[in-house]
Amino acid sequence: MHTVYLSLGTNLGDKEANLTLAIKEIERRIGTIGAQSAFISTEPWGFVSENSFLNAAVRVVTALSPEELLQETQQIERFMGRTQKSNGGQYHDRVIDIDILLYDDLSLSTPTLTIPHPLMNERDFVLIPLKEILE
Ligand code: ADP
Ligand code: MG
Repeated sequence: MHTVYLSLGTNLGDKEANLTLAIKEIERRIGTIGAQSAFISTEPWGFVSENSFLNAAVRVVTALSPEELLQETQQIERFMGRTQKSNGGQYHDRVIDIDILLYDDLSLSTPTLTIPHPLMNERDFVLIPLKEILE
């Protein structure tokens, strides 16, 4: 079994409901939630939008491989109605974003997946929830 940390963000619709549903889907498809941070409100990072974000982080114990984990998080994003992908640093409003921060003590870089998440240390909206639950 593997311990993973996921970052969640939303800036559209009922943001609390979006995070709550995403966490429920993570539990159903990925594994047991060991810890969940508080939800924090943050300003858009890297793009201009009038819609503020609600962010959280969760710790999950999973049997999935890194690639399988990415497949599942992307399926949850699509199931919840996310249509656009970020491309080359172009960000946009989103109903849900689930990023993989840490996977055990693994370092990995493929065309589709980089772990630890390369931008996590630049983003307070990732680090503040993560620090709450990191062990
Ligand atoms: P962002 O989260 O930066 O707004 P997206 O959610 O649209 O962007 O993801 C863009 C791509 O980033 C995904 O298609 C995925 O292949 C890739 N990616 C690389 N590393 C990670 C990671 N650690 N967690 C999630 N996605 C990742
Ligand atoms: Mg993402």
